[in-house]
Amino acid sequence: MTSKPETKEFQAEVKKLLDIVIHSLYTEKDIFLRELISNAADALEKFRHQKLMEEDVFDADAPLEIAISVNDKDHTLTITDSGIGMTHEELEHNLGTIAHSGSKTFFTELAEAQKKDINLIGQFGVGFYAAFMVAKKVRVQSRSFKTDAEGYEWSSDGTGSYTLSPESGLHRGTKIIVELKDDAHTYANEDTIKRIIKQYSNFVSFPIKVGGEKVNTVQALWTKGKDDIKDEEYTDFYKFIANAFDEPLSHFHFSADAPLAIKALLFVPGDNMELMGFGRMDPGVSLYCQKVLIEQHSKNILPEWLRFLKGVVDSEDLPLNISRQALQDNALVAKLKKVITSRFLKFLKDQAKKQPEQYEKFWTTFGLFLKEGATSDYTHRDDLAKLLRFESSKTEPGKLVSLSEYVERMQEGQDEIYYINGPSREAIETGPYFEVFKRRDVEIIYTMEPIDDFVFSHLGEFDGKKMVSADRADLKLPEPDKEEQDAKESSPAEPLDEPIAQTLTKWMKEVLGEKVKEVAISKRLVDSPAMIVNPDGFFTSSMERVMRATNQEHQISSKNLEVNCSHPLIKNLADMRTKDETFAKNVVEQIYDNAMIQAGLMIEPRSMVERSYQIIERALLSKENT
Ligand code: ADP
Ligand code: MG
Repeated sequence: MTSKPETKEFQAEVKKLLDIVIHSLYTEKDIFLRELISNAADALEKFRHQKLMEEDVFDADAPLEIAISVNDKDHTLTITDSGIGMTHEELEHNLGTIAHSGSKTFFTELAEAQKKDINLIGQFGVGFYAAFMVAKKVRVQSRSFKTDAEGYEWSSDGTGSYTLSPESGLHRGTKIIVELKDDAHTYANEDTIKRIIKQYSNFVSFPIKVGGEKVNTVQALWTKGKDDIKDEEYTDFYKFIANAFDEPLSHFHFSADAPLAIKALLFVPGDNMELMGFGRMDPGVSLYCQKVLIEQHSKNILPEWLRFLKGVVDSEDLPLNISRQALQDNALVAKLKKVITSRFLKFLKDQAKKQPEQYEKFWTTFGLFLKEGATSDYTHRDDLAKLLRFESSKTEPGKLVSLSEYVERMQEGQDEIYYINGPSREAIETGPYFEVFKRRDVEIIYTMEPIDDFVFSHLGEFDGKKMVSADRADLKLPEPDKEEQDAKESSPAEPLDEPIAQTLTKWMKEVLGEKVKEVAISKRLVDSPAMIVNPDGFFTSSMERVMRATNQEHQISSKNLEVNCSHPLIKNLADMRTKDETFAKNVVEQIYDNAMIQAGLMIEPRSMVERSYQIIERALLSKENT
């Protein structure tokens, strides 16, 4: 035991965070109490769980509760819990550093944009520090449940350092004494405290006593019947378990007896924190067994791509005294995970059918997570595929289509699902890949997120139909109908004669050398002179772009250049080759670069710019000469 008080510096990140907390003017100060109570409740939950596993615990008979008292003469507020407590080491680590990487991201953001909502503090594992919004000094007296531990007092005024000193005679758990700032004396008032508890902490599953009187309604909402719960209660419960301020988008409450006894209450939040720039979220669903917390924010109970969900899963089939480590490879937990995930996906499917607008809102906010699931989770791949939504050539801008709808309205003779990636609807619709789909009136899905092509190539097929990117060289589009064939034959744009076209493309391949695998005569281009297509393999140009961006070593695979032999530019090129081969070669290089740009692929900009100036110069010259 360290017998003298020691003073220690806060970790640099904590100092910055405290500075923000103390000087933040915009804040809803009440939330500090919610954070301290939530920590007390966590400590009690952890103790309850510990007690099931350890032989000996300190103060074994202390009742599990939170007691709050105020002193309006000293202007102090004291929150006492009989939870797990903290050792010397834990005080130092938990209240002197920020352990979480996600939290570091949060508060860096907070520092950058002062106005960012400090109310979010609890969601990022730094809630304790909120006490300094109202405190000139905070004292934390704590005694761990471990029998051989000693008691300590941690104290700080929140500016740079804290002091740790031994403290004898403590009971198990933690007592937090908040010495209130002059402008925060209102928190030394029982009525204020009761009001805040009712507002934020009503669902804490241990009694909270203020002046000896129980204030909260202790209840496990998920164990009640759906019909007995009001919408308001769901919302309040969501705000409580998620430490959140937004309204949930929806909730999913279900219970089952077979194959496993499950009660689950899951919430889809109103906002997607990852999209708002807060870094990767931690899981938000906790695992219970008969209302006893087994693992808070469990990584095991749902797949990672459902990390945006908040809520509770309770199964009485779990052994109560299972350890954290054992959860990881417990077959029962794996089974629970599968069942709950399937049920949640079914819930989404029903929502998509019965409340399409609600589902679309979900999709725009959280669709990215389902896409992540579709690329990583084989077990639920088929169900996920049905939930995907995209724009397509047959939707209005901003409106979405499902793969099932696409398949339903496929043309006769069409047996593949087509998609094409591009930065926007407009870019896709003016690009070369779209031309043949437009002409033949074949629907094509627009994949506008970088992840989309990975999703499709991972799916491979849907409903027995292959998913094919429109930049593939070997498209098997339905045969053109008679009308189209006639239109083509009577069109004024006569293609080059076959032998001339053959010689031209052969020469173009020689000019481009290793840059292309093949130069081919296109059967699908209408308005563009040329385009890049992928001869084989698995990668679309969009995927290659992503891989190149994440890994400079990635070698872009060899492409085919398809040329449109009815296009005036190509026809003139055949002619130019015999008159001025040097210039014609320049044109070929330029056509290739342009096609690469349209495919969204990298080119060497310097030589391209130089060459295009040469071509322009020549064009101007010939203008002069005419
Ligand atoms: P979070 O609760 O999200 O982990 P906090 O900043 O609120 O973040 O608390 C930091 C840590 O301090 C907690 O994880 C816990 O280990 C410890 N702690 C805080 N309050 C208590 C308490 N009353 N009893 C035991 N441990 C506590
Ligand atoms: Mg906390």
